[in-house]
Formats: sequence, C-alpha cells, structure tokens
Amino acid sequence: NAKRILKKTHRIDRSLLSIGAIKTTEGLQKAGFEAYVVGGAVRDLLLKKRPKDFDIATDATPEEVNRVFRRSRIIGRRFRLVHVMYGDETVEVSTFRGSHLADSEQNDAKVADSGRILRDNVFGNQVEDALRRDFTANALYYDPSNEEILDFHDGVADIQAGVLRMIGDPVTRYREDPVRMLRAIRLSAKLGLKIEQATEAPIPKLADALGDVPPSRLFDEMLKLFLSGHALESVNALRHHGLHHGLLPMLDVVLEQPMGERFVKLALKNTDDRVLAEKPVSPSFLFATLLWHEVLVAWKKYKDLGENSIPALHLAMNEIIDTQAEKLAIHKRFSVTMKEIWGLQVRFEQRAGKRPYSLLEHPRYRAAYDFLLLRCESGELPIELGKWWTDFASAEGEKRQAMLLPDT
Ligand code: ATP
Ligand code: MG
Repeated sequence: NAKRILKKTHRIDRSLLSIGAIKTTEGLQKAGFEAYVVGGAVRDLLLKKRPKDFDIATDATPEEVNRVFRRSRIIGRRFRLVHVMYGDETVEVSTFRGSHLADSEQNDAKVADSGRILRDNVFGNQVEDALRRDFTANALYYDPSNEEILDFHDGVADIQAGVLRMIGDPVTRYREDPVRMLRAIRLSAKLGLKIEQATEAPIPKLADALGDVPPSRLFDEMLKLFLSGHALESVNALRHHGLHHGLLPMLDVVLEQPMGERFVKLALKNTDDRVLAEKPVSPSFLFATLLWHEVLVAWKKYKDLGENSIPALHLAMNEIIDTQAEKLAIHKRFSVTMKEIWGLQVRFEQRAGKRPYSLLEHPRYRAAYDFLLLRCESGELPIELGKWWTDFASAEGEKRQAMLLPDT
C-alpha cells in the first residue's frame, strides 16, 4: 500500500547523499537485504536541505548488519542499532521495528510498568516500521539504487504542501510519547512546515504529559531545539502552545519579566545566528543565559538576607542548578561551566588594581565576557561596563594601566 514516487517527481539530488549512506545501502542490498535511507534525511533532501546525518532502515537484524560491515558495532541495550563507520562519518542502521500495539497485546500486563521499554523492542516489517514513526514527512524510504521513494502515509504530498502531520490519531500518539509534542514544534520551526490542524489542536491540553518524560530525554530534546538554529522561533511556539511550563522550570516566569524576556531573546537570537553561520555554540553558555534571571532573583534574596555579594551569588547559583537539575537533568559537565560563567560576573565589577589582569587570564574569560555583553545589551547593566572590558582587553601596556579605576 505504499506509493512509489519516482525521481522525476521527487527530484532528490543524489549527490547530497553521503558516501556512508550510499555504501551502507549498497552493502546491505548486495548481501540480499532491503535497505533504505529513512526519516529526517529523506525529508531534508526533499526540502533541498543537506541532511546532517543519515539513518538507514533494513530488514536485516543487527547481527546480520554487523556481519556485512567490518567497521560496525551494535549499540544500545533496549533497542539495538548498528553504527557503521566510514572515516569520520557514522551511519545509523536500524532493523524495521514492529507495531508496539501487537507487542503490548502479547505483553499486556507488563505495559503499565515498562511499556516504554517493551514497545520499542520488537522487529517488524516495513509497513509496521512506517506506522510507528511520528510524522508523515518522517516516514519516507528512499532507495539510492533506483532513486525511488516508498511513501506509506502521503508524506511527499504533505511536504510539498508545507504540512507536518502526525501519523494516526494525534492524541493517542502524543500519549504514547509526549516528546512528540516537542518534536512537532521543533521540526515545524526548523523546516518551515505548518503543523496540521488536528496534529496541533491537542497539544495545549496534553502539555502536562511532558511531566512524565524522563528528565534526561527532555534535556536531549530541549538541547536539539535550542541548537536547531531556530531556537527563538521554537521558544515562541512552545509558549504559544503552553509547553514552556515545567520544561525549564520557571522559564515562563522568566519570560514574563521584561528584563528576563529581553535577555533570553537576545541570547537565543545570538545562538541562532551562530548556528546558522556554522560557528560553534556552547550548551553551557546557552543554559547559563536561560537561567540567569532566576539566579539574579535568588542572588538578591541572599543579599537581602545579609550575605555578602560573592557568597550570595554562589548560594543563588547552587539553588538554581539544584532546582533545574531535578526536572531537566542538566548534565554535570554543563552545570560546572554554567557556574563558572555566572561566578565570574561579579568580577567584572572590579576594575582596580591587579584583579582585571587576572580575570583576563581566566580560562572562562571569553564566555563570561560574552555573557557580560548580553547583560549590557539587555539593559541589565550599563553599556559602558561592557565597553570598558572590550577596550581593556584590547589595550596594551600603559594604556591599559591608565584605564584602571582608583583602588577603593
Ligand atoms: P533531525 O533532523 O532533528 O535529526 P529527525 O526527524 O531525523 O530530525 P531523529 O531523532 O533523528 O529526528 O529521528 C529519526 C527518525 O526516527 C524520525 O524521522 C522519525 O521517523 C523517527 N522518530 C524519532 N523520534 C520519534 C518519536 N518520538 N516517535 C516516533 N518516531 C520517531
Ligand atoms: Mg535525524
């Protein structure tokens, strides 16, 4: 029941495929298996975007795939995939997965406890594999050997009409996996697709279901959203759909404070510009900006309680990190850097004696300075302070010396 879409209709440029995608499908097909490029990559190719990575779907089991490719390894415990390596490219190969419905019938009693795990673990045929994908645009199978697309849910027509549509009943599909709500918003912003009406309508009502998603998964998904190059638009859409509550706890509160909103928007815009210019972005820096106004509020609270400025800041940072960590599982490797960026902010106020020199030498100076500039730009601090540091860093010898403020 799949439509076969020929090259003259879909016009995918085969040269946009990676070497790995071509070699992996060829290798599997030569060994007698079916193999297709699938998911986000086909969608991106149809939208004339270069895919950032390629996923392959096949009827071969992970062991069979592993045997075909010398440089490959089986990964994952709850559902096993194969990574096939070509130079620095890694192609992810997954075996067609079955309907979790069939599975949950077999395992009826176990579903409530461990449904998530059981569901994903069954192999199936291609029809079932297409059915368990989220959006029609993500359920396309492209065969590089004959350049045909197999389209089980009219995904090509939806993409051409600029529509992101859930496969099956949207409410059921969101209940199965609430992260699909975030994916709808992220993909729609990133790809410029409009979320189809029935796909969009249930989202605000089901927003609370995100509370049951394991924090580590939420964090991964939010990171993808923030680093998509369309973070500002995505956050606005999250808000519009009432999904920002509880994602970064209190992000809604932050966005409702005039200063906080301006700051977060500048930070997201800044990140989007960097991503689109293919410059590196640091998740720690981004999360530090998102939570900064929470830190400011807590900082003031501790100062009002009589703490000195620096210890008050540290108390505030720890409080905010602890609150966020519960919900979002911000990984330690990020939170350590976030605290460094925040912790250095007080030191920009010290512009006398030797201190400014040692701040310039700090390994996190650059990130902390970029952060300071955002604070100035958002109106939290006088522009003059940021400018002073820009000049101080670039000045030399005596000129630099002359800039120092009198010791107090
Ligand atoms: P991106 O361009 O951001 O990578 P993507 O659609 O490729 O977007 P992946 O997370 O790489 O996202 O997922 C690959 C494919 O797996 C998707 O295209 C979709 O078919 C399927 N998929 C991913 N997440 C889900 C989900 N939560 N529910 C159903 N299918 C999913
Ligand atoms: Mg992908």
